[in-house]
Amino acid sequence: MHKDRGICKGVCKEYKVRKPRDGTSRYLSGQVRCQICGVFITRQGCHDREENPATDETVDLYCNCCNCMVRSKPRNKPGMKLKKTPQEEYEGLKKRLEK
Ligand SMILES: [Zn+2]
Ligand SMILES: [Zn+2]
Repeated sequence: MHKDRGICKGVCKEYKVRKPRDGTSRYLSGQVRCQICGVFITRQGCHDREENPATDETVDLYCNCCNCMVRSKPRNKPGMKLKKTPQEEYEGLKKRLEK
């Protein structure tokens, strides 16, 4: 069933969304980011762990296209800092390389 996991099959094109013009957060407008496909898609383009269509309450979202987990910001964690400063990123990278 999941032998195509991790491969973009082009299905995501149907669910692809454009950047909101008013600058609203994509995550707030229910969009999720698939890193494999490299696109933002709607929740309609996702399924949950049990392969049911994703709903607004679904936390674990998987891309219908590549079957990989996609990121959606949990609604109970507002104002979470997602962006790292270049310095933090550098430190994190350094730590990873030292291991
Ligand atoms: Zn795709
Ligand atoms: Zn995908």
